Amino acid sequence: MIVSVEGLVVNAVNMGVSDKMLTIITRQYGRMAVYARGGRQISSKLMTGSLKFAYGDYVINKTEKTNILQEANAKLTFFGLHKDLCASALADYIAEVVSDVVMDEEPDEPTLDLALNCLYVLSEGKRAPEDVKTVFELRMTERLGVYPDLSGCCKCGRSDKPWYYLDIMNGELRCSDCKPDAAPQNEADEGTAKIIVIMTGAEVYAARRVLSAEKSKMFSLPTDKNVRERLGAVSEKYLLNHLEKNYKTLDFYKEISKL
Ligand SMILES: [Zn+2]
Repeated sequence: MIVSVEGLVVNAVNMGVSDKMLTIITRQYGRMAVYARGGRQISSKLMTGSLKFAYGDYVINKTEKTNILQEANAKLTFFGLHKDLCASALADYIAEVVSDVVMDEEPDEPTLDLALNCLYVLSEGKRAPEDVKTVFELRMTERLGVYPDLSGCCKCGRSDKPWYYLDIMNGELRCSDCKPDAAPQNEADEGTAKIIVIMTGAEVYAARRVLSAEKSKMFSLPTDKNVRERLGAVSEKYLLNHLEKNYKTLDFYKEISKL
């Protein structure tokens, strides 16, 4: 069956001297493994559309066993990613997470659009990579349906406390008066038993805004660098614990971002 799809190339592996195996997150069929014959060759009409992070229209011969790329028309290539090592390392992490989350034959347009938004902002240099990472991770928890309830303490309902405990696996917030069992005494104790992190009121407020903002406003993070850094650590821990996976692309990004 010949299908026309719109999608984002999240992985492109060289096959021999001239071909590529692509992973494309499509609007119509979710994740697709697509063979691009000649995708490596500059003379090929498939070359631009076979680049990692290309986004556009693809015509694919879709069979039960294989998907063969027939036509590719890249509308965006996010060229700016290739000019900044830190941005490109983060883009690799985003691509890997999205490729894990979106399944074959299960369209997930909101996740695709989240990835596209993040890649656009990164590529254009509109936000610092660490902020894009925080927003991506928090919004991914929403896509996975495991986002934290940050409206207030889950026991007493108060939302005016200076700091809280966040139970990562059930997404519940508790205030300092209603602290959970075996709550850590300080940040160094975090990560034992229940995976509980401490969040200040400012961090909770900022995370809540990222989760509830319209797409155009979701990258608005507080100006306080400490709040942003701490929120980034929480968002990463939260997402990775729910995905139950460590990402080498993330380790690499972190190394690069320290330079
Ligand atoms: Zn409480």
